Amino acid sequence: MVDSQASNDSPEGCGMEDLDPLQVSRWRLQRAASCLDGLSDGMIDFLTAPKRIVTVNFPVQMGDGTVRIFEGHRVIHNRVLGPGKGGIRFHSELTRDDVCALASLMTWKCALIEVPFGGAKGGVACDTKALTTDELRHITRRYITELGDNIGPHTDILAPDLYSDQQTMAWVYDTYDVMHPGRNNRPVVTGKPLDLGGSLGRREATGRGCLYATERFLAQAGVPGLPEIRGAKVIVQGFGNVGSVVARLFQQAGAVLVAVSDSQGGICNENGLDLEAVATFKEEHGTVVGLQDTRSITNEDLLTAACDILIPAALGDQICETNAERVGAKLIVEAANSPTTPAADLILARRGIPVLPDILANAGGVTVSYFEWVQNIENEHWELEEINQKLLKKMHHAVDEVVARWRELLKELMENVDGRDTGAAGVQEPADLRVAALVVAIERLLQVTDERGIWP
Ligand code: NAD
Repeated sequence: MVDSQASNDSPEGCGMEDLDPLQVSRWRLQRAASCLDGLSDGMIDFLTAPKRIVTVNFPVQMGDGTVRIFEGHRVIHNRVLGPGKGGIRFHSELTRDDVCALASLMTWKCALIEVPFGGAKGGVACDTKALTTDELRHITRRYITELGDNIGPHTDILAPDLYSDQQTMAWVYDTYDVMHPGRNNRPVVTGKPLDLGGSLGRREATGRGCLYATERFLAQAGVPGLPEIRGAKVIVQGFGNVGSVVARLFQQAGAVLVAVSDSQGGICNENGLDLEAVATFKEEHGTVVGLQDTRSITNEDLLTAACDILIPAALGDQICETNAERVGAKLIVEAANSPTTPAADLILARRGIPVLPDILANAGGVTVSYFEWVQNIENEHWELEEINQKLLKKMHHAVDEVVARWRELLKELMENVDGRDTGAAGVQEPADLRVAALVVAIERLLQVTDERGIWP
């Protein structure tokens, strides 16, 4: 089934909201900076500007003999904590600014979860659904070739993201290895197939990290009246690498999966979906829509349906100014990157709906990518139990830190210490979990920047 990625990509438009990805990143950074004492304008600029942007345009001969030019990017946002680390995304509407914003998210994520990487991201503007496997392989190989020595096992390490997967990572590795013979190149990319040096648990890591983060947050009384995942009604938007795993793991943890969706729309069943049947149907038909014993719903309805936990696991900017007032969940867990817009952040905070932010909730992916990288460097192979245990520890620790900081910030606000963060409407806004997570990440980054000193 061939359809376009671009169709149905955002929910009924996002009103008048400015969704320029660089403005959104800057706004979020400014919000966090207002909670940090003595952060100079110069340091804010340093944290804003990407360290390096590489844009490549390259030709690919398509299956029908025609030649098409593709545009790809690779951005390192910051490498104070270590080499660049970030996925590669294939999407028809991908822009350089999107990649810059996503790279900065990786910087905060790596700092927050304490893996020794800086933030990076990359991708090619293309619609994978309109390409043959051969065409996609040619695009991937040519993109990696064009990036040349801008990537490497100790300079910038790649991984999967939207519309790229294990197979793509295998092509990335093979291309880089052919260009750099005679050395161990496995650590140049993570999320590889197991027999190519991939790690046990990596495919599930982002979803598993979401599960661990949610469990911990609920155990800390993060959502009044919702002490645990067992029995919770859960909705997942997106049924790809992350969404399908998240749905399965939450169901295994006792949740009732009432709705899931993909780019074609959603399905629901109040009594719980049979996820095996959903996966088989998706495999056969290319979409979840149409499975028997389910009711079809639009992605917009799915986002606003009543439930305990809503897990966006697809594209950015899904929960926005136009639908945040109608969100029917008690908790949002951002498995996707940047699924909630700034206006929605403010609306949800005022409505008392916590959002476990992307840099925390989906950090399990980069965490196990780090484990894969270490195993590749050491030529080791860790057991799944060890990996999941290490992941659990990191996720729980990060949640504890963010929640503690969140509560401190709320306390400060209650005491009305000063008039910082005045928000878009000019009134003082309650700090949310995103601000708290960013504050923890930025503090860590600033500490190391200070220790290293500004060169020269
Ligand atoms: P994927 O390509 O495997 O899956 C994307 C899914 O989203 C597909 O099921 C697709 O049909 C669906 N989708 C696309 N447009 C949609 C729409 N308008 N409404 C509903 N569903 C739609 O990608 P993925 O790797 O699962 O990534 C999903 C999200 O998770 C992205 O935001 C990505 O940045 C983020 N993420 C991924 C990883 C990872 O390890 N893969 C790690 C961290 C964060």
